[in-house]
Amino acid sequence: MISEKLNSAVYGAKRSAIREFSRMARETPGCLALALGEPDFDTPECVRDAARAALDAGETHYIENNGSADLRGRVARFEREKNGFYCSPRQVIVTAGATEALFISLFGILNPGDEVIVPTPAFVLYEEIIKLCRGVFVPLDTSVSGFQIDPAALRSKLSPRTKAIVLNTPNNPTGCVYTPESLAAVRDAAAGRDIFVICDDVYRQLVYTDAYHSFTEFRELREQILLVQSFSKPYAMTGWRVGYLIGAEAVIERLELIHQFAVVSTPAPFQRACMTALDFDPSELIETYRRRREYVLARLDGMGMDVTRPDGAFYVFPSIAKYGLSSGEFCRRMISEAGLAATPGFCFGAEGFIRLSYCCSDEVLREGLDRLERFIHTLK
Ligand code: PMP
Repeated sequence: MISEKLNSAVYGAKRSAIREFSRMARETPGCLALALGEPDFDTPECVRDAARAALDAGETHYIENNGSADLRGRVARFEREKNGFYCSPRQVIVTAGATEALFISLFGILNPGDEVIVPTPAFVLYEEIIKLCRGVFVPLDTSVSGFQIDPAALRSKLSPRTKAIVLNTPNNPTGCVYTPESLAAVRDAAAGRDIFVICDDVYRQLVYTDAYHSFTEFRELREQILLVQSFSKPYAMTGWRVGYLIGAEAVIERLELIHQFAVVSTPAPFQRACMTALDFDPSELIETYRRRREYVLARLDGMGMDVTRPDGAFYVFPSIAKYGLSSGEFCRRMISEAGLAATPGFCFGAEGFIRLSYCCSDEVLREGLDRLERFIHTLK
């Protein structure tokens, strides 16, 4: 059969189980979901207006592959002013979301059999892209070290085939941010070796602590750093599909070929709107998430659920170990018996946990947590 004659790498990739759980929730009447991975807000009006104005002004033609000079310049200024990360517009590729930035990074650096260390629990995309690119996914379990990176554990994963380490802070699904010690462990592992550090900082603007640090602060390793960013989360623009990748100029010159031959460029009118997004101050959204996070943590505490305090993103990742069910079983039963959907930890490579997202209205959050409380009572 011709369908069995495809590139063998595509048979190794699997669909995310998150979709299966979302489907179950949708098909269960009255089920509430604390499972979403995207803001419940609409894209700010000024950003939508900017896209409309760009269309009306006829900005509908091919543009530079890596993104308009205006947007790349704006991105470089944003990174410098907001994050203290110095780069030139030539180091920026505007991509189809962070997803494409991750894909072209991994496709561009991996030879067959090259290893990529990924601290887990982790966003599922990394493992699947690594496999599609014929690399080897090497998980580093951080659930045993408070979701931080233990230097000895990291050293034990290094091999002559290690090509990259993926860092995601704040993290999906834990919401945790890496401490300076965790980041220093990665610096020590990568320094002096031909290892890339892919910094997936897409939740960086959604941080509720002053103690946030990005790996990009290690300027001495800047040749090895690939910074992945997205407009999806801070500006509620998940459906627009725009993000960017920043790396050393000589690396970006190569990676841009993959982008050029796969997508040509991201849509021109949206690039104009993204400039407006970078001018938008998301602090009101951040305050809303901060308030919801406090509420969720207080409720989980009241229920006696153990959780590592998250400092960013819009997720909490409590332990369910004491209830004696696998995370899949816990979530399946919670949907059918309590009408509440969460995402099982196994979807992120971590059994014994569930991910709750607070991307929903206050009422849904309150009712959802009431249902969680009633459900765990039935398990005791
Ligand atoms: N990285 C992480 C950690 C994410 O959670 C997501 C989205 N869920 C992405 C990357 C992809 O984002 P985008 O919409 O920009 O492709």
